[in-house]
Amino acid sequence: MIKVIEMSNQLYLGIDMGGTNVKIAVVNAYGDIIEEVVMKTAVDAKPIAAVLAIVRKAKEFKNYSKTKTIGIGIAGDIDFIRGKVRFSPNLYMWKNVALKSMIERLTRKKTLVDNDANTAALGAFWLDAKAKYDSLVCITLGTGVGGGIILDKKIYRGASGSAGEIGHITIDPFGKKCNCGNTGCAETYIGANYVSEYACKYLETHMSPIIENLVKDNNSKITPELLFTAAKKGDKSAVEIWNYVGGKLGVLLSDVINFINPESIILCGGVSGAGKFIINPAKEEIAKRAFKSAAKTCKIAVSKYTQKLGVVGAAMLAKQ
Ligand SMILES: [Zn+2]
Repeated sequence: MIKVIEMSNQLYLGIDMGGTNVKIAVVNAYGDIIEEVVMKTAVDAKPIAAVLAIVRKAKEFKNYSKTKTIGIGIAGDIDFIRGKVRFSPNLYMWKNVALKSMIERLTRKKTLVDNDANTAALGAFWLDAKAKYDSLVCITLGTGVGGGIILDKKIYRGASGSAGEIGHITIDPFGKKCNCGNTGCAETYIGANYVSEYACKYLETHMSPIIENLVKDNNSKITPELLFTAAKKGDKSAVEIWNYVGGKLGVLLSDVINFINPESIILCGGVSGAGKFIINPAKEEIAKRAFKSAAKTCKIAVSKYTQKLGVVGAAMLAKQ
């Protein structure tokens, strides 16, 4: 691909603040990582100390001085306009932190702060969709289930910044109580902990020598990764568990498809690692529920760049 020289000179700094690691990268205008570093998240540090350590690390990049703007993705309730972290579930010390102005003071570079589900969606837009689609929905299937919406090639944030809370769409009004206060949220079926919980219950009444051998009486080892490994080995129970979880995912995706009619849905995060075992039953459910033309148009895939989406998306936020 021939790249326009003047465009490729522009570099952006992306920061992905997770609960375990902080990823920092210099990214070009096409979403390619030029330099990157990973550091442990200083969970117990005061926000200013954590931010100072991140900025110090970023300044070690050879291309740091060439970066124009900074983008940050962080989990939680983010005031995008003011660049404030109102609350972050991973960082208990962070309450009403003026992250944007803090970083701008330390770096003298314009900084943008957004929810990590939104930056992941931008990452999927640039890396998985190669910026080709106008509309895309990215769904993170982790402990929590988050979503980011791209419309007209831009993040859609909604009236108060809450758009994309896909994990809290009700798929069973009489279902389980969710942490958000609602009952029967999609997250209570397809979030990582609920997948493990369902699997434990299912295995009480179904035989599975392969899983039993992998777990050795320690049920806390029944994770989505282990269930994927067992399914790959041909374990019938593991496949049935994924059929159930994938079916629930399909109910949710049918709602998303009918409501937004996106060109693509990209799945990322731990549970999406189950690949075809979760995607195929989801597609069967979509065929039963969603509008035919909308379902046909929508390309559903697991991201090939799960580890990079956040940091590249954050840098692309800086580009926007
Ligand atoms: Zn909920």
